[in-house]
Amino acid sequence: MPAVATGSMVRREIGGDHICLLAFDRPDSSANIFDAATLDELSEHLDFVENDNSLRGLIITSAKKSIFIAGADLKTLLKQAQTGDMRAFIAQGQRTLNRLAELRIPTVAAIHGACAGGGYEITLACDYRVASNDPSTRIGLPETTLGLIPAWGGCTRLPRLIGADKAAEVILKGKLYSAQEALKLSLVDEVAPRDQLVDHARKRLRGGKRKPSLAPKFDQEILALRDHNPAPARALEVIKKGLSVSTQQSLVFELDAIVDLGKTESTQNLIRNFFLAGKYKKGSSKAAVPKVVHAAVIGAGVMGSGIAQWLSSHGVTVILRDIAREQIDRGLANIEKTYADAVKRNLMSAEKAKEGRARIVASTAPMELRDVQFVIEAASEKIEIKKEIFRELAMQAGPKTIVATNTSALPVGELADATVSPEHVIGLHFFNPVSRMKLVEVVVAKETSQETRERSLAFVRQIGKLPVVVRDSPGFLVNRVLFPYLLDAAEVFESGLDADKIDNALVQWGMPMGPLRLIDEIGVDIAIDIGNTLEKAYGRRDHVPAVLLSLRSRQMLGRKTGAGFYKYEGKTQTPNEALEEWRRTGAAGNGAIGLPNRLAFLMVNEAARCVEEKVVDSPEDADYGMILGSGFAPFRGGPLRFAEHFSLKKIVDEMDRLAESDEKFLPCEILKKHARDGTKFYES
Ligand code: NAD
Repeated sequence: MPAVATGSMVRREIGGDHICLLAFDRPDSSANIFDAATLDELSEHLDFVENDNSLRGLIITSAKKSIFIAGADLKTLLKQAQTGDMRAFIAQGQRTLNRLAELRIPTVAAIHGACAGGGYEITLACDYRVASNDPSTRIGLPETTLGLIPAWGGCTRLPRLIGADKAAEVILKGKLYSAQEALKLSLVDEVAPRDQLVDHARKRLRGGKRKPSLAPKFDQEILALRDHNPAPARALEVIKKGLSVSTQQSLVFELDAIVDLGKTESTQNLIRNFFLAGKYKKGSSKAAVPKVVHAAVIGAGVMGSGIAQWLSSHGVTVILRDIAREQIDRGLANIEKTYADAVKRNLMSAEKAKEGRARIVASTAPMELRDVQFVIEAASEKIEIKKEIFRELAMQAGPKTIVATNTSALPVGELADATVSPEHVIGLHFFNPVSRMKLVEVVVAKETSQETRERSLAFVRQIGKLPVVVRDSPGFLVNRVLFPYLLDAAEVFESGLDADKIDNALVQWGMPMGPLRLIDEIGVDIAIDIGNTLEKAYGRRDHVPAVLLSLRSRQMLGRKTGAGFYKYEGKTQTPNEALEEWRRTGAAGNGAIGLPNRLAFLMVNEAARCVEEKVVDSPEDADYGMILGSGFAPFRGGPLRFAEHFSLKKIVDEMDRLAESDEKFLPCEILKKHARDGTKFYES
């Protein structure tokens, strides 16, 4: 019988072979994480191990089904970052892992399940690492993606283990790797079947302590990184400086760097986004909702084919219908291409792609839809066409079928009214390209039932997308917030500033692409249609400027026709000189606050209105929806977080000033109230 000592977080077993096994097993949780209590307990076990001279080796492992150790407790870390108390916790982790690294007996980590951040750093403090070949085993150091750096020895021990170039790549990319990939990169020494993992670990111990590696150095000079997230550059600096000094000194560099980073707003926002992703993925509903196995998509255009592909790749069989044969052919070609790309980018095996593709049946003929759980309408954006489809669907669909529309801007309630069971109608607004964009706006109309809403939320989560619930109102959330910004950028262009100047300024501010380039991507014609709908509802701030009409009249519709604000040839993009006349009026009047702020304030104002008018349930929904749906600079935490950090009062003052010459800048009531009372959207 092994001698067993049970603390609350880590179980210790010592076998007849004098090998000590420490199994992490956090109570009442499916995950192991590192918090101060776990570190304390690990420390006590190390006291024991250091004092027992009969021990011949130590194995670190986990008792969980699919998690080794998921990393440091980020909730505590975020709090400490906000209060400036991170140093003590990080230093405690470093001390504890150093003791593990300095044990006189050989040590090995037996890794099964997620092994990330601090979870991988504890294995770096062992002599050897053996990983299970299970798909749940994912290994890496994702800290830089959260604005942090690996500071429990990751930046110090990994370069010494696998070389500086490879270590920098792993740390700067922040990816998680499968066991096989980890083996290739030498992140682990061996891969073993799950049921033999600990046996393999025991065998490794026979190799004794690992010999120190030669001093690592950079073979290639990695260029300095320019990013709004300062963490990758800081990690690189620590790795470089750490190479020529002792482990101890290098750990001090790690500690200083992570404490500095923790103080920045961008790091705190990136950690918050991480929690939001988890929250939106899980949802709060406890209701058991049956899985969707069978769906139909109406319209095989850009969006319909994208949605059909996505559903089929998530195990749902799909009937894809269109009125035009050539559209079906084009749609299917799109689907093949998306699958082929996924295989090429290693996101999917060729076999899985084949299985997915086989789940789609496409036809121009009406088909029996009684057994499908969801129909998603993605036909042309014309209310009459859609109403006709909805009337027809009401007759073909079963009594429990939910009928959803992917409309960008039409009222969902009006479509619901065209059917006999409006309670089953909802909007599911996917974004383009469907395979890349995680957000789905779940548009709840007046008559949409609670059950339809719950089933739709569960469906969106089932297919791996993140839902944000929005009220049925023009532009929903994302287009409503985005359009005043896009249209104002076009007005600034009219007032004389070059397209690339405008776009570069916003990219530097943190947007994934500039607003004029985004209009070209959306399509000038579509942007005008959406702008017109929004202008009808909201007035001046969604006014479509003449430069867009001029582009449309010349059939310059953006990327799809090869010209818009830019000319597109292959991968090159050059200013469109056909628009020269729009830039003869002289310098742009972008005011004293600078262009990015002026444009961002319009988004802040509109996001605030969405909260004020209860288009969304919370400021978080507005912020996270904009990050996911428009790529709004994630490190700024969304328009409302940005506004609070910038100062609501300054924004309101500036908007009041701009509004003297243009009413579209008038700040909304909730912004003015917060500015006046010194209150906020968020508590922390
Ligand atoms: P699209 O023009 O590429 O495709 C529309 C398809 O609908 C065409 O293939 C057309 O033949 C088909 N169609 C028309 N009438 C039909 C009918 N009665 N029955 C079946 N099929 C019919 O358009 P798209 O860009 O894929 O947009 C589709 C919908 O998605 C629109 O409501 C649009 O507003 C919305 N949307 C578009 C985007 C985008 O970026 N393109 C993003 C989000 C939402």
